Amino acid sequence: MYIIHTLNCRSHMCACMVCMYVHTYAELQVLCRVGGAMASEGERRHDDALSVAALRRTLAATGLLRSGIAGRDEEDDRLLLLRFLRARKMDVAKAAAMWEAMIRWRDQMEEVLAAGAAGEFPLRPEEIQIAREFHPRGYHGVDKGGRPLYIELLGNSDPQKLLEAISLERYVAHRSAEAEHMQITRIPACSLAFGSRIEAQMVVIDVAGIGMKNFNASARQLLGAIQHVLGQFYPETLHSLYIINASRSFRFVWAWIRPFLDPATVARIHILGHDYTTTLLEVVDADQLPSFLGGKCTCPGDKGGCIWSDKGPWNDAAILERLGRLRPNKQTPPVMSSPLSTYSFSSKVLDLQQRISAAEAEHAHIKMLLKKVLSKQDEVLNMLQDLGVKQCRH
Ligand SMILES: [Zn+2]
Repeated sequence: MYIIHTLNCRSHMCACMVCMYVHTYAELQVLCRVGGAMASEGERRHDDALSVAALRRTLAATGLLRSGIAGRDEEDDRLLLLRFLRARKMDVAKAAAMWEAMIRWRDQMEEVLAAGAAGEFPLRPEEIQIAREFHPRGYHGVDKGGRPLYIELLGNSDPQKLLEAISLERYVAHRSAEAEHMQITRIPACSLAFGSRIEAQMVVIDVAGIGMKNFNASARQLLGAIQHVLGQFYPETLHSLYIINASRSFRFVWAWIRPFLDPATVARIHILGHDYTTTLLEVVDADQLPSFLGGKCTCPGDKGGCIWSDKGPWNDAAILERLGRLRPNKQTPPVMSSPLSTYSFSSKVLDLQQRISAAEAEHAHIKMLLKKVLSKQDEVLNMLQDLGVKQCRH
């Protein structure tokens, strides 16, 4: 007799008190099979809490735990750890290695990132004009979930000319500062404006006009370097990607490579042809979408001006003021609270709050499992009663 837990329970490998109780109970008394069911939100939160706690302990043991990297408060710290876990399929050892590489990189880039967090970027104004000409892109508004909307006109970009004018190192430093600004200001500002925690952004890439210039050595070098920074040091910040104006050949190539990609990644990517507007308006309000993409926004300037406008909650003075008040001191990033580290009273409070959250998640998990066990127990008792009645009749 046995019980098969729902998704994500590690069965006999799970060491938590809940599962030990249920497995024992199952072996002694219950004949039931619950396998194949989808994990509930409670179960997922329970597993997430355990994984974050394990990663926290691993990083604390090596002195690599830091707080304040991702924004406002301890919940942002927790979500940052979770992003690294998700990027490594919840493998704690791999997530810890990825985190360590991020910390080493941040130490090397300290000045650039500190400036980026404050909205100051390495490129000079004349270089920014060049970058706009050869790599047009920008932030504009939010999607219906309150996430920042990033737009890139990839088909109009010319990486070789960009790198002839601006060194790869300077451009990557600029993009790194922008990524830091996104993490420390843009996304937290969206969270405040939307009234709930925002973790990622929506991306629209226009590939109209894409050609060999977008696949030469310069393009590979440029995109590879940027992708390395975003993927390794700011993981799991892509909520959805819409590639628009994709030609038939582009879609053919996509259909060919799609089966080789991670299904979770594929689910976030939408390849659209020239009739993309209806789809975009399903996820972005018209006043947040530039007119050149089929929306109603017409910020002043070239190409509707929208792509350069940087319109969004991150430029709202009231929200910035609230962020400034809540943002931790970036000059001396504190060590995250941990049972293995020496910490201040406030860190102890944060640690207690995290333990309470984990206990609440575990409590929900216990409640759900007990419900299932009691339900099955009733079924077994009913079966025994029926059996008893039949025996008496014989
Ligand atoms: Zn606009």
